[in-house]
Amino acid sequence: MTTPTDAQRMEKIVSLCKRRGFIFQSSEIYGGLNGLWDYGPLGVELKRNLKNYWWRVMVHERDDVVGMDGSILMNRAVWKASGHEDTFSDPMVDCRVCKARLRADQMIEKKGVRQCPNCGSKDLTESRPFNLMFKTYVGATEDESSITYLRPETAQSIFVQFKNVLEVSRKKLPFGIAQIGKAFRNEINPRNFTFRSREFEQMELEYFCRAEEGMRLLEYWKEQRLKFYENIGIPRDTLHVKTVSDEERAFYSTGTYDIEYDFPFGRQELEGVAYRTDYDLSQHQKASGKSLEYFDEETKQRFIPHVVEPSAGVDRTVLALICEAYSEDEAPDEKGKMETRLVLRFHPRIAPIKCAVFPLLKNKEQLVAKAKEIVDLLRPHMNVFYDESGAIGRRYRRQDEIGTPFGATVDFETLGEKDASLRDTVTLRDRDSMKQERIAIQDLAAILRARIA
Ligand code: ATP
Repeated sequence: MTTPTDAQRMEKIVSLCKRRGFIFQSSEIYGGLNGLWDYGPLGVELKRNLKNYWWRVMVHERDDVVGMDGSILMNRAVWKASGHEDTFSDPMVDCRVCKARLRADQMIEKKGVRQCPNCGSKDLTESRPFNLMFKTYVGATEDESSITYLRPETAQSIFVQFKNVLEVSRKKLPFGIAQIGKAFRNEINPRNFTFRSREFEQMELEYFCRAEEGMRLLEYWKEQRLKFYENIGIPRDTLHVKTVSDEERAFYSTGTYDIEYDFPFGRQELEGVAYRTDYDLSQHQKASGKSLEYFDEETKQRFIPHVVEPSAGVDRTVLALICEAYSEDEAPDEKGKMETRLVLRFHPRIAPIKCAVFPLLKNKEQLVAKAKEIVDLLRPHMNVFYDESGAIGRRYRRQDEIGTPFGATVDFETLGEKDASLRDTVTLRDRDSMKQERIAIQDLAAILRARIA
């Protein structure tokens, strides 16, 4: 078996995503729309499992974090105060020959002269800032007074609601507010499949603290987040922590790490962990005229808390999960001949379908009835899939390809026809080792739940 190159690997991943219903191009029947994607039946399960696990670890398993769900459209004043209206932009260059509009950092430079990466022309415009926020109008009139933007990050609604959440949750510093939601950026060059999209989801935590705790908590959250990725099946050695340099860092941040992953198209950011100081709350306090201070009952001091922000992309993590899981190995076909097996080795925790249930033969009523009973038994606990069509080996392959970690097969032994001691047991096949074990149906749910927890 030859090892595919990274480009071939990526091509295969994109094609599998479409063929098996993970990710489709948005508005595909109309030719699509650049940088926008839809998640199909399996993609949406994967995405939900990721978001649910993030929420479980970041909110439910902690005493010091609460959640919120803010609106996508907010008062324009928010974006003025946060600095997004003036500065949330990428420098952009137009090529006068091929008309490509590109980010300035994508220009090729040969002997000190900038060239278009598409056509090689040197006839380029000066670079100018291009605001990445999508502008829209609220209400019936389309004028200056009704302008606002689709949010380019979820964080600002957390800052703006800081006081309300603090009051209702009665938390003491340090504590965090978490949110998962859509964000929109009119990226100049969306690329690398879903990696750089114009509409995406973020999972953000704003962890408020005292100024003196900021740098320590930055380290703490970087480590927590690395552990998170390992716990969903992205090994530590494929992750890299980049310390963002003084020049690249937002001016208000005193420390930022990018957590990067080795995608087939290169090492790229999955998540940013930034110490944003008290910049955001101070800006909103100044602009709104409303106090966003915290009152420390012990010291009787009032101050604006600082904040550390781990900000992860749902779509980028889903893509990393798929890239990491994608593998090809060899397995025997029905006749024992070795063939290439395509398998997504998802961690059972995030796999879209946890267990497939198969009757050995579809024309044996008792096998079918038993298999359906098992489906009903497992359904309240996990996402299961029933499949009775085709040879059992083919059914296994179909599940391997979408990363289902377990397959339970109902055969004649389940019916106790050969050996009464095997009545009401099934074979449970493991996707990765392809080993099979005999399990009592009554233990099945508990065994699987422990393995997918
Ligand atoms: P990049 O440098 O790649 O444009 P960024 O540093 O601007 O990203 P942040 O503003 O830190 O990104 O956003 C936090 C996270 O949101 C990113 O780490 C990423 O996972 C996700 N994200 C940002 N922009 C996009 C996008 N266009 N498509 C998909 N995910 C994105």
